[in-house]
Amino acid sequence: MQPPATDVKRQEISPAQLKTLDASAQQILAKYEFPRAATLPLLRLVQERFGFINTAAEEWVAGLVGVAAVHIHEVVTFYTLFHQQPVGTYHIQVCQNIACALRGAEGCLASLSERLGITPGQTTPDGKFTLSAVECLCACEAGPVMQVNDQYVGPVSAQVIDALLKTPEALPELPVVFQGTVGLVEPVLSKRFNFKDSTLIETYVRDEGYQAARKAVAELTPDQVIAEVTKANLRGLGGAGFPTGKKWSFIPKESAKPKFLVVNADEGEPGTIKDRYIIARDPHRLIEGMIIAARATGCRKAYVYVRGEYAEPARILQQAIDEAYKYGFLGQHIFNTDASLEIVLHRGAGAYICGEETALLSSLEGGKGFPRLKPPFPAIAGLFGSPTVINNVETLACVPTILNKGGEWFAKLGYGKTGGMRLYSISGHIKKPGLYEASQGVTLRELIEAAGGVPEGRTLKAVIPGGISAKILRADEVGVRMDFDSLLAAGTMAGSAGIIVMDDSTCMLQALWYAAKFFAHESCGQCSPCREGTGWIFKIIDRIVKGQGRPQDLDILMGVASNMEGRTICVFADAAAWPVQSYISKFREEFELHVREKRCHLTPAPAREPLAVNVWSSR
Ligand code: SF4
Repeated sequence: MQPPATDVKRQEISPAQLKTLDASAQQILAKYEFPRAATLPLLRLVQERFGFINTAAEEWVAGLVGVAAVHIHEVVTFYTLFHQQPVGTYHIQVCQNIACALRGAEGCLASLSERLGITPGQTTPDGKFTLSAVECLCACEAGPVMQVNDQYVGPVSAQVIDALLKTPEALPELPVVFQGTVGLVEPVLSKRFNFKDSTLIETYVRDEGYQAARKAVAELTPDQVIAEVTKANLRGLGGAGFPTGKKWSFIPKESAKPKFLVVNADEGEPGTIKDRYIIARDPHRLIEGMIIAARATGCRKAYVYVRGEYAEPARILQQAIDEAYKYGFLGQHIFNTDASLEIVLHRGAGAYICGEETALLSSLEGGKGFPRLKPPFPAIAGLFGSPTVINNVETLACVPTILNKGGEWFAKLGYGKTGGMRLYSISGHIKKPGLYEASQGVTLRELIEAAGGVPEGRTLKAVIPGGISAKILRADEVGVRMDFDSLLAAGTMAGSAGIIVMDDSTCMLQALWYAAKFFAHESCGQCSPCREGTGWIFKIIDRIVKGQGRPQDLDILMGVASNMEGRTICVFADAAAWPVQSYISKFREEFELHVREKRCHLTPAPAREPLAVNVWSSR
C-alpha cells in the first residue's frame, strides 16, 4: 500500500548560494538592451540550479534588473513553469487538452495518479515524482502526451507508464511524425525534416542553404526583398494571415531608435505542432529567414521567443545559432558585408497568452504576459518602445525559398490571395496523426483522407480547422479549402492550421468543456469581459456536464460569448467566445438533450470535482 502523499517541504535558498550564480547572471544580462528583459532567463537560471524560486531569489533577481521585488514576484506567479516550492526529481506533466483528451489523456492521468498514490499537484513522499495536469504541450501528433522534466513522452500507454515508474531516467524520445506532403510536387518547408543530421549547418549549406540570405544581404536592396515577398503573397502563418511584405513595409526606414526583429516561437495553440518541427528539424531555415527579414526591415538585433516547454527544440536552435555565428552568417560583417545581425534566443515560461504579439513583447521585456492596446502598433512602438517586426517561425521559414525560387513561383503554389504551402498539424480521432505539408488550396477533406480518416467503424462528426480557437465545422463542411479567405468565408478561420478531428464517439459538450477550461485558465485577467466571461462560460458548461444544467443555460452561454467579442484589449476573448458560439449553434440538439435529460447521450458524463477556475489567483 502506498504511504500517504505529502507536499515536499518548502526549502530555502540562501543569498550565499545565489551569489554562486553571479557570473552566469552577468552573461545573461549582457545579452539585453535593458536589464529588466533578463528577468525570465534569470529566474530560469535560479530554478534550474535550485529547483524552485523563493523570496530571496526574487530579491536577488530584482537587484540585478533594477526593479522592486514585488514585480519579480508577480512575474513568478504569472507563469506556470516557475515553481515557488520544489517539485519531485521527476515532474510528470500530463496534457489534459482536447487533442490528447480525444486519445485518452484522462485515463493516463488517472492511471498515473493511482499508481503513484497522489493527485495532480502532489509529490510522492520520497520526493521522486510530482504529478501535474497541464494544458496543451503542442505535441498532439503523439497524444496522449506528457512531459517528464524537459522531455516530451508519447503516446502514453500502460507500457510507457510502467517504464516511467521503473526507469524514469531512460524514457523513449518522442517520435518524429512528419507524414509527408499532400498534392505538392515537392516539399518546401518539410523537405529536410527526415534528412540525416538535418539540424547541422554543414548539411544545410550542402543543401544550398544560406544562399538566399547571402543574396539578400549582398545583392538586393531592402525594397527588392520586400517586393519579392509581397509578390509571393506570403501571409502570417502564426494565424493572423496578414501579408508579410506589407508588414515589413510598415517598419520605418529611418529610426532614431534601434529596430528589432522578434520571432514568435511561442507555439501554444492547442492542436498545433508545426513550429516545433521547423525548429527541431531544420533550424537553419528559420535563421536564414531571420537574416532576410532583418535585411528587409533594417534590424540589427533579433530575438527568438521560444515556448518555455520546448526545451529540446530550444537547445537545437541555440546550437544552430552558434554555428551560424562561427560561419560568419551572424554577428558583424555577415557575408563579408557591412551588415550585422545578433540573435538572442529567449525562452518563455508557460503562458499561452504570450503567443499574442503584444503580450509576447511584454513578456520579453521582463513582465507578465499582458497584451497591450493597439495602436501604437509594434511597427512603430514595439519592443522597448522601438519599431519592431514580429513574425512567426513558419512564415520566416518560407522566405529563403521565396528568394531562391521567386515570389511568383511561391504564389502559384497557393490559392487565391494566399501564396505558398503550409504545414498542417492533424490530431484527434485520425488514423495517421502528424504533420503534413500541402498547398494552401488543399481541402480539409483531402487532408483528412491523407491522414487515413477516422478510426475503423467510426464516422466523422466534426473538425476544428485552425487550432482550438477556430469555429468548429461539421462533417458536411469539410469540402472547404484551407486558405485564409476560404475558411473565413466558411465562417471559421485558418488560424495556426492545427486540425483536430472528432468522430461520432465525441460528445460535443465534453469537447467544449475542454476548450472552455483552457480559455478560463489562460485569460490574462486584464479585461473584465474576458476574465469574468471565460470563468462563467466554464462554470456553466461544467454544470451541464455534471447533469445540473438549467433550461436557460444555452442562451446564457451565447449571451456571455457575444458580450466578450470585440470588447477587450486583445482577441483572446473573441477566440474564447467562438467555440461556444459554433459548438452550440451547430450541435444545439445535443446540448439541449444534455440539459433536458441531464445525461450524455453517448456515454455517462464522468463525475467531476469542480475545478477551481479563478483567473485572478492563477494569473
Ligand atoms: Fe487578457 Fe483576455 Fe483582455 Fe486579452 S482579452 S488582454 S487575454 S483579459
